[in-house]
Amino acid sequence: MAQLIDGKAIAATVRAQVAQEARVLRAGRGVVPGLAVVRVGEDPASRIYVTSKRKAAEEAGFNAWEYHFEDTVSQAQILDQIRKLNENAAVHGVLVQLPLPRHVNAEEVISAVLPEKDVDGFHPVNAGNLFLGRDGVKPCTPLGIMHLLEAIGCDPAGKRAVVVGRSNIVGKPIAILLLSANATVAICHRKSQLEREVGLADLLVVAAGAPELVKGRWIKPGAVVIDVGMNRNAEGKLVGDVEFSVASQRASFITPVPGGVGPMTVAMLMRNTLRAAERAASFQPNRAG
Ligand code: NAP
Repeated sequence: MAQLIDGKAIAATVRAQVAQEARVLRAGRGVVPGLAVVRVGEDPASRIYVTSKRKAAEEAGFNAWEYHFEDTVSQAQILDQIRKLNENAAVHGVLVQLPLPRHVNAEEVISAVLPEKDVDGFHPVNAGNLFLGRDGVKPCTPLGIMHLLEAIGCDPAGKRAVVVGRSNIVGKPIAILLLSANATVAICHRKSQLEREVGLADLLVVAAGAPELVKGRWIKPGAVVIDVGMNRNAEGKLVGDVEFSVASQRASFITPVPGGVGPMTVAMLMRNTLRAAERAASFQPNRAG
């Protein structure tokens, strides 16, 4: 039976550390990290995510602001709001909650956020830096996965890592982080021979958005399994992309859904915002005291 990776507990430790470092920043430099979230439309999941991000920011002692626009908002209005946030020195992190309505050009909106305030790590400059192995803001979910691996003592070096999914927000960046950590990485998609590839994985990361796509019997005995998926099944229950009941009989470690990767994403967002505030503070006169 696999050991459960308790993302909730590990995320709580990260958030407590972030709150402590935020107190130090405030006392030493007079700077309070500030996170601004832009939300468009009435997607119920987005509303829940934004509320939990704001709550986490406030618990860490940050300033947090939400800018909510109706579905009918124009591209120009969103870009204007982002420009104001870019210019506001109290705002260190700007996050645009995805998905955006169809009439909005998401690429243009993401690219409008200053790279140093792009705490989601989605800006092309940050994506490029990640690809090139340079410093930059890294996306939260992949960062959270790497932190979970570290927490369980799983070093990817030399392991065969298989990533299911090639999105810009999870699949591609986690593949690059695993490669940087010296794993041998395969990236799977709809044209891949999924069962065969999954069966080779010492370390499996699944981010497909398809309920229980990866069958438990495919998993190599002893593999570490990270399930990023968050789906509602036919009964309305939250399930991952991996058939947990069987996979947990074969894996050595496995993340539950919920309570695995999800809480880590929020914790890493807080850490990215804190780091953005620290960087900004290093260029400003000291406001403490
Ligand atoms: P996405 O943009 O929809 O990408 C899904 C990827 O999975 C695509 O590359 C797709 O392949 C692949 N895929 C889908 N069905 C497949 C199948 N039957 N066989 C093989 N590959 C398949 O998804 P995403 O934004 O990365 O999100 C993935 C999941 O993670 C979702 O459930 C999402 O809710 C969840 N998520 C969770 C967190 C968190 O914090 N826990 C954060 C982000 C996302 P193609 O490229 O060939 O279409």
